[in-house]
Amino acid sequence: MPSIGHVMVGMAAGRLQARQRKELVGSMLLFSVVSMLPDADAIGFKLGVPYGAPFGHRGAMHSLAMAVILAVALGLAARLARRPALRVGLVAFAALALHDLCDAVTNGGLGVALWWPFSNERIFLPWRPLPVAPIGLNGMLAPRGLRVMAAELIVFAPFLLYALVPRRGVRAPEASQPAVR
Ligand SMILES: [Zn+2]
Repeated sequence: MPSIGHVMVGMAAGRLQARQRKELVGSMLLFSVVSMLPDADAIGFKLGVPYGAPFGHRGAMHSLAMAVILAVALGLAARLARRPALRVGLVAFAALALHDLCDAVTNGGLGVALWWPFSNERIFLPWRPLPVAPIGLNGMLAPRGLRVMAAELIVFAPFLLYALVPRRGVRAPEASQPAVR
């Protein structure tokens, strides 16, 4: 899946994690990056790591075990920054696991090593409705890549709506609230 779907999921995760309005933009940016982290393994293509290798694209980085490891690391970082560690860790895990599952319902490429390190088998889920995206910027900007992005804009629209539609439940910055004595 190209990054646009993962970004939309990440924005929704950032919206879910933010407790105050002033945190929204930063939280959405942070979790958009978190949501795309598994695709950092695409650098393996440049480094000569075979696609099907354990650390190739959609390999270990796309496993649920790695989602747990990264979520724990982010939770610990949040704790150091005096942020809600459990909340950050859980939302990060949800975003990372959703990335893995979304890739597992695409209709091309190799499956994801969801169960690494217990198994290196690349798997897809039984239902694979999402069109697979071409790899690389040139592929993404070609007609097929643009069609895939358009399809993802539609499929992932609920995540974008959740992230962007204003509603009650997120507190305004405390500084703007009237002091009560
Ligand atoms: Zn991926």
